[in-house]
Amino acid sequence: MANDLLEKVTALCKRRGFVFPNSEIYGGLQGFYDYGPLGVEMKNNIKKLWWENFRKNYDNIVGIDGAIITHPKVWEASGHLDGFTDLLIDCKKCQKRFREDEIKGKRCSECGGQLTKPRKFNLLVEASLGVIEGEKRLVYLRGEACQNIYLNYKNVLDSMHFKIPFGVIQIGKAFRNEITPKQFLYRQREFEQWDLQWFVHPEEADKWYQFWKEEREKWYQRLVNNKKNIRLRQHGKDELAHYAKIAFDIEFKTPWGWQEWEGIHWRGDWDLSRHSKYSGKDLRYRDSGTGEKYIPYIVETSGGVDRTFLFLLLDAYQEEGKGKEKRTILKLHPQVAPIKAAVFPLLANKKELVELAKKIYQDLRIDFEVAFDDIGNIGKRYRRQDEIGTPMCLTVDFQSLDDKTVTLRNRDTMKQERISLDSIKEKIQNSLKVK
Ligand code: ATP
Repeated sequence: MANDLLEKVTALCKRRGFVFPNSEIYGGLQGFYDYGPLGVEMKNNIKKLWWENFRKNYDNIVGIDGAIITHPKVWEASGHLDGFTDLLIDCKKCQKRFREDEIKGKRCSECGGQLTKPRKFNLLVEASLGVIEGEKRLVYLRGEACQNIYLNYKNVLDSMHFKIPFGVIQIGKAFRNEITPKQFLYRQREFEQWDLQWFVHPEEADKWYQFWKEEREKWYQRLVNNKKNIRLRQHGKDELAHYAKIAFDIEFKTPWGWQEWEGIHWRGDWDLSRHSKYSGKDLRYRDSGTGEKYIPYIVETSGGVDRTFLFLLLDAYQEEGKGKEKRTILKLHPQVAPIKAAVFPLLANKKELVELAKKIYQDLRIDFEVAFDDIGNIGKRYRRQDEIGTPMCLTVDFQSLDDKTVTLRNRDTMKQERISLDSIKEKIQNSLKVK
């Protein structure tokens, strides 16, 4: 199943309204995707989980939402204009493009053709600002979202009256001219990142680095079924950014090998020092207790929302049974699942059953994302909900009219139990508690 897992998940995403190829009617645009009705719910659930983890568990972490376009000098200071490059190699025969690190051997892996020498490509996506030709200004769509946090570090510090250590979080879009967008949502040209930038005293950076590395791994572990598919990998010396003392990636075992999910980076004083130098502004922090002035060190945890979305689907996708009994299930964590419960009348043509089922549905939708379905037989409705990861289905039958109970059917075990109408909300609520 491993090799076609990605294809199956991609097909399911389109069929069931999770993710659509962007501009499909015009032949698509490589590296861009649109989230559909179920996808946007699931993506919002994931983002909410990430956001609330920081906002509800730590007193000194606050969020920002920065603009996608910033002053172009930002990208000079950050080093992206000079250093944000990939090496690109073309096949002279079939014209296929490769990143240098994708090349194995001396010839094209597709057709055996001769390869060009590697050429440097900057990954920043350019845009032009202004309306009058000749006066337009070259700007860049942000290549990484975190720059807005560095730019606003002093604003946050002053407006929130924080002391070090403190953190700033952000979820936002980033754009990269990736040479080879591929593997569905894994490598796109427009994608969303989530970052925590944690500002610390230089002497405390080691301690906090360890802390966030462990916290972030645990956080991802909680969301997956197969914990063995997550690991921490330390960067070798040759992979380290020049300012980094240490770097780890949280990786996920995809059908195409272990891949980065989130990076835990030691950024030292690199970012703030550079912005201080290029802007001419003093970005030092002053400790009000000791009077010490210093540029804080930064520990960063930077991950991908779309990668999280894809990896959770890869982790959740299962096929069970054979022939008529065959079913596809998304074993998503109930908090991640786009729909929390589905309500069915046993028979679509029995008015009393439909009325009661609709009433239950209307009542539940005030608090939860729920679905109503009366199309086809119950077995088919279960299969449809399994395929989109709905943790429970509630069926109204004739007994429900007498004793105010429904049948609750569990997605993973397929076990059924009779529960009272009064206890439905509590059941859903309990299923949403983080494991
Ligand atoms: P990679 O080595 O896979 O290109 P990176 O090291 O360049 O990733 P970072 O710059 O550290 O990635 O970005 C932080 C996170 O953003 C990554 O861990 C990943 O989850 C996500 N990300 C980076 N590039 C892309 C992309 N092209 N499409 C989707 N998500 C991405």
